Amino acid sequence: ETVYGLGADAENATAVSRIYEAKGRPSDHPLIVHIGSMDGIADWAGDLPEYAIKLARDFWPGPLTLVVNRAERAKDFITGGQETVGLRVPAHNVALALIQEFIALGGKGIAAPSANRFGAVSPTTANAVEDELSAYLHEGDIILDGGRCLVGVESTIVDCTKENPFILRLGAVTAEMVEESTGLVALVPENSEVRVSGSLDSHYSPKAKVILDAIAEPGDGLIAPDQIPTPEGVIRLAAPRTIEGYARDLYAALRSADDQGLDVVVVLQPGGDGLAAAIRDRLKRSAFK
Ligand code: AMP
Ligand code: MG
Repeated sequence: ETVYGLGADAENATAVSRIYEAKGRPSDHPLIVHIGSMDGIADWAGDLPEYAIKLARDFWPGPLTLVVNRAERAKDFITGGQETVGLRVPAHNVALALIQEFIALGGKGIAAPSANRFGAVSPTTANAVEDELSAYLHEGDIILDGGRCLVGVESTIVDCTKENPFILRLGAVTAEMVEESTGLVALVPENSEVRVSGSLDSHYSPKAKVILDAIAEPGDGLIAPDQIPTPEGVIRLAAPRTIEGYARDLYAALRSADDQGLDVVVVLQPGGDGLAAAIRDRLKRSAFK
């Protein structure tokens, strides 16, 4: 429901190494383990605070990743050598069916980062996955088409290893929602709407140059809320009507800029908290050169 993922048996070092190879990703970047239900927590997590259970109860299946102390099963090749592991139950019938079938065969979880090359824009359709990764897949690898992603940005990541929930990445589950669920103050890294743990300033980047909150010139692409008109000669890439629509359309619009060979995409950012802040977080990285 967030973005398309590239999955491998989270207990199989060889399978997981193929993820890193296909993405071109540094091997110290941890992967999120996708499980079928809350029962899977016991397979992967060590001690965890009560608020982590509350969050899982309130938001799983859904776009929320919990970073918790790892159990022995979570090896260094999953955690990037850290003592913590990221866990999530996705809210998509195809993803859940896959995980449940896998568990029925004796598996415990599917490690999956977004199905893009390192630093590039996450795919939100099966076609985008094929464009992005087909050159790096092997015979027998399969792309499961679950339709267009409903959320469109990556999961919220909450570090649950401290006294208070600590938000590592913004997403559709907002800080307010985390606070309401846990009854605790949710901490967000200093002066940032903008941190993906262990990540770079530049991410989510198309080939086109992304310029934020500027005036689009003829020949530029434009992503802006639908009430903003398209100037003469500008190529409109998305005109979302709501914040949810903005998140859903953003990555496909950035990809379409590259498909059309545009040099510049101007993006007028959405205002407000919650999902809008998650969108601005991604855009800031898209624009970083
Ligand atoms: P992706 O699935 O491509 O959106 O990337 C997964 C994100 O989850 C990365 O940014 C990781 O830094 C983060 N992540 C996964 N596991 C952990 C962990 N144990 N501790 C901190 N961050 C994590
Ligand atoms: Mg990613």
